[in-house]
Amino acid sequence: MSNYVKDLIADVKAKNPAQPEFHQAVEEVVESLSIVLDKHPEYRATKILERIIEPERVIMFRVPWVDEQGETHINRGYRIEMNSAIGPYKGGLRFHPSVNLGILKFLAFEQVFKNSLTTLPMGGGKGGSDFDPKGKSDLKIMRFCQAFMAELFRHIGPNTDVPAGDIGVGGREIGYLFGMYKKLRNEFTGVLTGKGLNWGGSLIRPEATGYGVVYFGAEMLATKNDSYKGKTCLVSGSGNVAQYTVEKINQLGGKAVTLSDSSGYIFDEEGINADKLAFVMDLKNVKRGRIKEYTAKYKSAVFTPINPKADYNPLWDHKADCAFPSATQNEINETDAKNLLKNGVFLVSEGSNMPTTLDGVKVFLDKKILYGPAKAANAGGVAVSGLEMAQNSMRVPWSKEEVDNRLQQIMKNIHTTCKETAERFGTPGNYVNGANIGGFLKVADSMMDQGVV
Ligand code: NDP
Repeated sequence: MSNYVKDLIADVKAKNPAQPEFHQAVEEVVESLSIVLDKHPEYRATKILERIIEPERVIMFRVPWVDEQGETHINRGYRIEMNSAIGPYKGGLRFHPSVNLGILKFLAFEQVFKNSLTTLPMGGGKGGSDFDPKGKSDLKIMRFCQAFMAELFRHIGPNTDVPAGDIGVGGREIGYLFGMYKKLRNEFTGVLTGKGLNWGGSLIRPEATGYGVVYFGAEMLATKNDSYKGKTCLVSGSGNVAQYTVEKINQLGGKAVTLSDSSGYIFDEEGINADKLAFVMDLKNVKRGRIKEYTAKYKSAVFTPINPKADYNPLWDHKADCAFPSATQNEINETDAKNLLKNGVFLVSEGSNMPTTLDGVKVFLDKKILYGPAKAANAGGVAVSGLEMAQNSMRVPWSKEEVDNRLQQIMKNIHTTCKETAERFGTPGNYVNGANIGGFLKVADSMMDQGVV
């Protein structure tokens, strides 16, 4: 690591204390970029990297709301407008009690590179709240969403900032948020993505992230003349990304054997087939139940509760070929990464954002497995959000086939960019370098063109 990079990371840590996830995301990217900075002194001279690390704008606000029992609640709302060099800020909203400034800054930072890789004109942003939707009535969710939008609406717009969903924000929440935005602005625009099909949404948007993660893995497998046929796959999470990851694995001939939530995970050796997946979708999206309930219905499955004292996750300790983390950040540590390799896993395609710790990433890179980092592998979601924006602007909806074909092509292109960039910069097979450098160059050159703003 050069002194320049060391000093830069030290500066980020000093200026942004108590934001470990943000430090981690910056460190991973900056390490890859040191190769580029050596070749392009103009980026260093104009402090492009220092500017990319600093959000263009951070909005933090009070979200007061009253529930159906008349009790008043106060949550904290955020929107990080990270970088608009190549398009309006774009990125999801996360509602989860763990949400804080550092987590949203890491997500917004990652989003800048991811959005650039999609080739669509989207800048990077992220937002959310420490509000916990779990177990809350629809009325509470609606009141919270309306209160959240009562402030956010003045900062966003179809040409300024276009939020979407993330953890805890699905179709229901986007509906309530959109309704409030429309009322306050008195206009019907494509200001949010992930909308319902009747009111401006795109076909394939719910499926896009999970499908894209599996398509990206298929591209990595193809470089070894391999496919998903007969492969056993470990999947974590049981939300939007996990569900459609399992659906696409099944369609391409693989077998998914695990799913999880924050209470624990299920292992079903016989495979989570289409019928079982339909049960999970109903359980999670309609009944809003817990994954443990899967074992009451399917006797082939075993539930293991989370052990908060354990320093590894047993979900990653089963014989398998492929792994698809799809729950949350830092869910694979160094021990988990070693367990995956020990059990035969040779492909990891990341659905969740930054699911692997820096030590875990090192394990994958050292062993040269097929490792697709999140900002490339899970870019299918935001890519189809970009396609939803395009359809909204034209006021013409595309068919399922049209959107899915475009998604597949985008994932192919992202894979090619990562692979060829990694080769061009002397680290063939290193998709982490490929994604970081590939995403960076377009944003950096656009910032150079636009001057110091
Ligand atoms: P959902 O809210 O639909 O599902 C999240 C799943 O992960 C749930 O099963 C949840 O369990 C579990 N989970 C969340 N936090 C934790 C935690 N701290 N520990 C254990 N399990 C946890 O979210 P998504 O599927 O949309 O998002 C999953 C990941 O994918 C996130 O990292 C997100 O940033 C990323 N992503 C999502 C995109 C999208 O289009 N939705 C796009 C790109 C990335 P429980 O219900 O118990 O909380």
